[in-house]
Parts: sequence; C-alpha cells; structure tokens
Amino acid sequence: MPKMKKVGPTRGLGVRYGSTVRKRYIKVITELRKPHRCPQCGFTRVKRESVGIWKCSKCEYTFAGGAYTPITKLGVVAKRAAKGAPVEETAKAVATVESTTEEETE
Ligand SMILES: [Zn+2]
Repeated sequence: MPKMKKVGPTRGLGVRYGSTVRKRYIKVITELRKPHRCPQCGFTRVKRESVGIWKCSKCEYTFAGGAYTPITKLGVVAKRAAKGAPVEETAKAVATVESTTEEETE
C-alpha cells in the first residue's frame, strides 16, 4: 500500500483548530457521508433528513436516530419515539445528550 498523506476532510481548516476539534470534525463528517443501512428494508439508502432524523430513499422509512449517525447508544430514546413520542422532540433530546457525552470519548 502506498504511503498516504493524512489529509482528509479537514483539509482547508488550517491550524486554527486543535487536534481534538479536528478529530471530532473528521468523525462527524465521515459518519454523515457514509451510506447507512435501513433498519427496515436493509438497503444502504438511509440519508440524514435533518439533525436526528433519518430517511430511507428506498422504502421511505423515516426514523429518529443520532445527530450524526442513525444508530446510537441512545437507541432507547429512538425506540420511545416509535411508541408515539414526537420525533422532533426525541431528535432534539438525542442531539443534546450526544453532544455532551461525545466529549468523554475523546
Ligand atoms: Zn428502507
């Protein structure tokens, strides 16, 4: 395998941001761009509709997930949404918890 320069999505950000921010940015962008698998039909056609809202372009299945990834450790919250809680509200809750818990994983 040829040697690859470590560039990636942060190229252009310069040195204004610390490595933690940069690492986080890479993670977020990478997760956002990845095609996600639909929990209903199994096709990797799931795209982010808005923060915490994911939609499958194959079967139109819409569900609440993480702010940047459809499946999170907070799947419990998403399940609650399926039981009738407003999806927007749940998404907001997930996004809030995610942004605060993410810090600890760095
Ligand atoms: Zn689907």
